[in-house]
Parts: sequence; structure tokens; C-alpha cells
Amino acid sequence: MAVQTVAGSTASSTPAVDLGPAAALSCRECGERFELGPLFACASCFGPLEVAYDLPTGSPEELRKRIEAGPDNIWRYAPLLPVPADVAEKPNINPGFTKLVKADNLARELGVTGGLYVKDDSGNPTHSFKDRVVAIAVEAARAFGFTTLSCSSTGNLAGAVGAAAARAGLRSCVFIPHDLEQGKVVMAAVYGGELVGIEGNYDDVNRFCSELIGDPLGEGWGFVNVNLRPYYGEGSKTLAYEICEQLGWRLPDQIVIPIASGSQLTKIDKGLQELIKLGLVEDKPYKIFGAQAEGCSPVSAAFKAGHDVVRPQKPNTIAKSLAIGNPADGPYVLDIARRTGGAVEDVTDEQVVDAIKLLARTEGIFGETAGGVTLGVTKKLIEAGVIDPTLTTVVVNTGDGLKTLDAVSATSQATATIKPSLEAFRAAGLGTA
Ligand SMILES: *Cc1c(COP(=O)(O)O)cnc(C)c1O
Ligand SMILES: [Zn+2]
Repeated sequence: MAVQTVAGSTASSTPAVDLGPAAALSCRECGERFELGPLFACASCFGPLEVAYDLPTGSPEELRKRIEAGPDNIWRYAPLLPVPADVAEKPNINPGFTKLVKADNLARELGVTGGLYVKDDSGNPTHSFKDRVVAIAVEAARAFGFTTLSCSSTGNLAGAVGAAAARAGLRSCVFIPHDLEQGKVVMAAVYGGELVGIEGNYDDVNRFCSELIGDPLGEGWGFVNVNLRPYYGEGSKTLAYEICEQLGWRLPDQIVIPIASGSQLTKIDKGLQELIKLGLVEDKPYKIFGAQAEGCSPVSAAFKAGHDVVRPQKPNTIAKSLAIGNPADGPYVLDIARRTGGAVEDVTDEQVVDAIKLLARTEGIFGETAGGVTLGVTKKLIEAGVIDPTLTTVVVNTGDGLKTLDAVSATSQATATIKPSLEAFRAAGLGTA
């Protein structure tokens, strides 16, 4: 098959490992290219590295057919991902192809007339979008001969790594802030790997992991979001692919995405751009909106202040999965929001809880706090006239409310507790609503 080099201008050297269409790593800042390997920073300018591809050049119809004939998970997009062609046959947790729910009840409540959709990633194997990124990182770990899978996590990633490692037959040792929700801790521990609570916040955990990578103790370890980060990030492109395919190979007009490190938002944009380049969707403008919690809103603060750089914050919010005070991809998120005509906004913890309940009440979807952040910001931006209610809008729900029960447990309890008799039921004035 003829190939075309999409990122970078230098001809790619023959890669030493088989990661399918992945041709090289390229620096986001200076464009320098490197052989595929467990690298994450440019040797020349320290810029972050990303995967560059030899993408297929056949007709869009052919590629579309090939994708549609693929499995009902992210591997249907294997021709666009850094994975070997036979990836679907290996032991993997096979995430993806989650529901795109047409949220008509919610649309009515918010006054959206152009079509409102919830991309519900709580349906993944460990109930968050993190299964997508980890599945790709596992393939890179295998290719580079790593025997231990690791990560610094705000909660969901630890569970996803634990599960994927168990399935792939790799050891795992994952690191989390010590004060996470019980649901996240149990979910990370149950798969049998080592789970280490670090006394500090996520940014402390991340710093610790960077030190561990440089130490002999960390030899043979693939940290999915550190030394495997360029591959890991590519998993989020599948959200863009799925949303467009599920809309009938069409770009949405507006898409609202939560921000922790900013990787997901950045790579969804990369995925949309690839679909346009490949002719799989018609090229038209789309806007990308980023969502943060007020208690950890470094990117939103920079957006509103008109800054290009992100000033780190100390997180204090119930949206712990998004509590990264020093987001690695913050500046790229700002670029994308500004380039597409979108915005970055934040909501209070109270608005997060309200939004969790709004989604549950209108659509029967119980999202985690990150989902509350995203829907809360969507509502706020509609009310502010920033999100256009007459256009097609997709809200990404990235996790499952069962992992963050504390956020709503105070206000979500039994309506009444009664004796098992009709008399008691009637006396309590129930069942007539
Ligand atoms: C990790 C996470 C995100 C966002 O992560 P990025 O670091 O911005 O890619 C969003 N929602 C949930 C539930 C998460 O766990
Ligand atoms: Zn560089």
C-alpha cells in the first residue's frame, strides 16, 4: 500500500519495532523525529513527543468499509493507531465503541435544538475512558519488552492499568494520591497488582514517578503516562473516531471535553484532524470546549486571562479524577480552544453535583464527578450564549458514578423507609407522584 507521511517533513527511517502505521516519534515543538521507543521528551528542545504515522492512502470508501467490518471495540481503528495489525488477537481488555446516546430529554431541559449527544465512556471495561489509552500503551510496552506496567494516577488510570496488565500477563505497580475515593482504590487494587498510595497530591505522585524512571528500581517498567505517554495519548483519538462514525461519518459542530492533563482533549482534536485528512468526514469547522472544576482550573484561568502558559494550582475539588494542578498539555489545550473558536470554562463543586443528578434524572446515565464537570460546563456555556444550542453538540462522560458515590450520597437516599404494608405506603403519601 502506498503511504503518506502526515506529521513532520523528514522521511521516516525503518522502525525497529512493529507498531503498525506508527512511523516515528516527532517533537510537537520543533518537529525533530526519533525512532519509535520509550521516549517522551525531545532530545533537542525537551518538547513533548507524539506518534507520527504512515497513514493509509486508499480511497475513503475502502477505509470506511474496512473499519466498519472490524471488531466492536477500538481495534476497528487499528490502521490509524500505533498497534500491530494483529492486535485484536492478543489478550487485551478491548475497550471502546461505547454508546453515543442521543440525549433528547436533556436537550429539552437545556434548550438545545441542534441535537445533543452524550458519549458515554462509563461503558468501558473498568468504567472510564482510561481503558482506551491504556490498551494502546500495553501494545507499546509489549513492543519495547517491558515486564511491569505502571502509572501515576488520579484514580481511574490505576484501575485501567491493573486490569490491562492482569489480562496481558504483565506485572503492575501503580501510584495514586493516598486520599482517593474508596471506589477508585478498590477498583485499582482488585486486579492483584501493587497499589501504592503516596502522601501528596497527583503532582507529587507524578514527580515521584519521574524519579523512579531514572532509578535502577524502575528498569523494565513502562509508565503508561510517562515514558509511554506518546502512545498512551493516541488512545484518546478513538473517541473522535467513534463519535464521528456514530454520527454517520460526520463531524459534530461542538464537543465538550473534561481536562485533567489535557491529553484527551488534545488527542480528540488530533483524531478529528486525521479523519478530515483521510477524507473519512467532510471538512467543516468544529469547536472544542474544555471543562474543569473551579477547585482545579489552571487551564480555564489561563484561557480567561488570555495567557499562553498555564500557572500551576493546588487542587481542591470533589472532581479528583481531574485534579491535576500542573497539566502537561495545558498550553496545547489553550491553542485548540482558541483555534477552533471554543472555550475553557469551570464550575463549582455544587454545580458538579447538580449536573451529575441532571444527567441521571434526564437520561438514566450516572456519571462520575468528571462527567458532572463536563455537563456543568456545557450548561453554563449554553446559558452564557457561548455554546450554540442550534448546533450538534457532543458531551463526553468519561467515567462511572459508582466510583464517586460520596459526591451524591448525601442527597441520594431512600425516599422513605416503611413497614412492608400497603397501609404504611399509603400513610407515607408515596406512589402518587
Ligand atoms: C483522566 C481522566 C480525564 C482526563 O484526562 P486527561 O489527563 O486530560 O487526558 C477525564 N475524565 C476522567 C474520568 C479521567 O479519569
Ligand atoms: Zn523538539
